[in-house]
Formats: sequence, structure tokens, C-alpha cells
Amino acid sequence: MPFGDIAALEAAITDDTVAVMLEPIQGEGGVILPSDGWLHDVREVTRRRHVLMVADEIQSGLGRTGTTFACDVEDVVPDLYVLGKALGGGIVPVSAVVADRDVLGVFTPGSHGSTFGGNPLGAAVGQAVVALLSTGEFQERARWLGSLLERGLRELVGHGVDAVRCRGLWAGVDIDPQLMTGHEASHRLLERGVLVKETHGSTVRIAPPLVIGEREVEILLDALTAILD
Ligand SMILES: *Cc1c(COP(=O)(O)O)cnc(C)c1O
Repeated sequence: MPFGDIAALEAAITDDTVAVMLEPIQGEGGVILPSDGWLHDVREVTRRRHVLMVADEIQSGLGRTGTTFACDVEDVVPDLYVLGKALGGGIVPVSAVVADRDVLGVFTPGSHGSTFGGNPLGAAVGQAVVALLSTGEFQERARWLGSLLERGLRELVGHGVDAVRCRGLWAGVDIDPQLMTGHEASHRLLERGVLVKETHGSTVRIAPPLVIGEREVEILLDALTAILD
């Protein structure tokens, strides 16, 4: 489905459709933010058409965007969340599918298996991450530091940067394609000690750990400014 096209999404739902699965903000796509109200519309359509709404919040979830889930921005609660990556503190491989019992209860013990599912260390780290998020401190930090990051990135628009998309501590930066590719930009930033990942073409995705401080945001912005010079 074209991201953000609610008419196309509704038209694609048939009697055989089980669920609509989406990233509330597309990560690999280049930190693509949906238009206002879209998630809300998806929730309304999926509820009315009796299909599940599945939010893949593996990249967008767990505090990164300034709220616990990216869906929270529109007060949308999907039927299922898909979580991973940050759930293991970015270190331990653990992922999860989270839903109410009336949805996940269709699985009975033994009907679904995974070799490393229920790994004790992974489960312990996952629980620690959930506990860390329960105070709201990291969501608040992502909002506050994210606004600093966004302000700094916006100043680069027109100076080697074509466009910037930010939500919390997460940014997609479209580098002027005449200057360099996203891949080149990532390598040049790496030389300056900043790890980012390019997505498509000339876009780099910035997703720093939520434990950074103002100083690290400055380092990041200085490095980006330097490579665009
Ligand atoms: C990494 C990623 C996945 C895959 O997660 P696994 O834990 O490797 O299965 C799925 N969706 C998004 C958005 C991701 O970033």
C-alpha cells in the first residue's frame, strides 16, 4: 500500500484479509512520518472492517519518538505491537509480539515455537527495559534532546541537506545527492566517531541511544556540519 493512503488501504481489504500491518513511522524507508490523522484513520477502518491492526514498532517504539509507542501520538492502540531491537537494550537479541489475551490467546502452549524464545537473559533484559520506560524519563529525554537535534538539523537545510524529518531522537536526513550518497555520508561520519545508517539513496537515518546527553547531540551536529563542508 502507498504509505498514508487510507482509500487504497480500505480498497485492498477483502473478506480474506486478516490484518493490516504497518510501521507507524517508516524506518528503513528513511524515517517517513505519516500525515496527521492517518494512524487514527487506519484504526477506524480496521475496526469497522473487523481486521487486526498490527503496528511494527521495532524501530519506532519504546521511547524513541518521545512517546512509549509512535502510535501514542494519535492515541491509537493497535491490536498487536511487534517489538524488538531496543527491547534488548540494543544488545541482547529479543523480540516480542504484544497483544491482549483475546488476540494472542489463539495460540495455545506448544502451537508456536522458537528456538531461542524465552531465553532467560533476553527475557530479563526485556523486563529491565520495560521497567526503565515505566517512569517516562526516557520518553521525556527523547522529546527534549530530539528538539535540540531537530533545531540543529534544520539549520543545515539548504547547506548540503535537502530535507529533514524528525520525531524524538530519530531523524531522516536527505543529503543533497550532488554532494554524496547516504552511504558515503555514513562512512564520513564514522570517521568522526558518529555511527548512522543510510537508508535509500542520499538519506541517512540518525537513531542515537536514548541515554545520550546534550553534548552528544552537539558532537553529532558538528560532525554532520563538517562532512557537508
Ligand atoms: C529489525 C526489524 C524487523 C525484524 O526484526 P527481527 O527481530 O530481526 O525479526 C522488523 N521490522 C522492523 C521495522 C525492523 O527494524
